[in-house]
Amino acid sequence: MHKESKKRRQIAIYGKGGIGKSTITQNLTAALAGKGRIIMQIGCDPKADSTRMLIGGKRQQTVLDTLRQYGQVKLDDVLKSGFGGIRCVESGGPEPGVGCAGRGIITAIDLLESMGAYTADLDYIFYDVLGDVVCGGFAMPIREGKAREIYIVTSGEMMSMYAANNICIGIKKFAATGGARLGGIICNARRIKKEEELIKAFAEKLGSRMIEFIPWDSIVHQAEINKQTVVQYAPESSQAQKYASLADSIDENRDLVIPTPMELEELEDLAGQWGA
Ligand code: ADP
Ligand code: MG
Repeated sequence: MHKESKKRRQIAIYGKGGIGKSTITQNLTAALAGKGRIIMQIGCDPKADSTRMLIGGKRQQTVLDTLRQYGQVKLDDVLKSGFGGIRCVESGGPEPGVGCAGRGIITAIDLLESMGAYTADLDYIFYDVLGDVVCGGFAMPIREGKAREIYIVTSGEMMSMYAANNICIGIKKFAATGGARLGGIICNARRIKKEEELIKAFAEKLGSRMIEFIPWDSIVHQAEINKQTVVQYAPESSQAQKYASLADSIDENRDLVIPTPMELEELEDLAGQWGA
């Protein structure tokens, strides 16, 4: 048998809050697990709900909460094995109104490393990161070179494209020091007119490509009520097939670029061109 040393990929999924990062990341990792990949998923959003559908709707004890409560953390307390053997972790956040969430993320990642969570058998480590603001904090995973491969989730709505563009500014900034690269744009549709064309054009302007178009579908909500990913709840559905196709695309993707962010005016023109 052909034997080659495993190349572990560390991937960050960025996007505006509420855009669908956690839904996509969980369905993506569930589909990748179905292909036999060994995965750790780290939720880096103070909401701490990144991995919920992988662990049957339960709330995870977060790394930062555990650290605050007990002054120390054991891997068993914060790492739960979920659907398909996916190792699920939530970084958690600082006490609301106190401290920087981004700094907390790095504390959590450093702790996980020192506890030996990054085992050699892992094919993928996914970071599900909030990216409304490009405060130094949330840029940490790419700034520190933890995740070098980034995918951005956006819809055709201006606010999420605006956030996506800002994230590209962050990636470009840390391309030299942290080695950050953009792997593609994932469109999580919001039923906007010509949304697919718009996001394809948007991705091209950023020097990248739309790697998948995920439709808006009520089955996501149904799966959620049943505390499962769509991949688990309705594996034969067209929506599950979309997530599987995304998993294939990312599994095969070697096309990583330094993005070319747009000026705000350019972005507004583009949205106007398709939305008119
Ligand atoms: P984020 O992690 O970016 O904050 P979530 O993944 O939690 O966003 O998604 C927010 C809400 O949107 C969820 O309640 C989810 O049910 C819904 N949602 C996400 N993607 C879709 C979709 N493609 N179709 C229908 N509902 C979706
Ligand atoms: Mg989320």
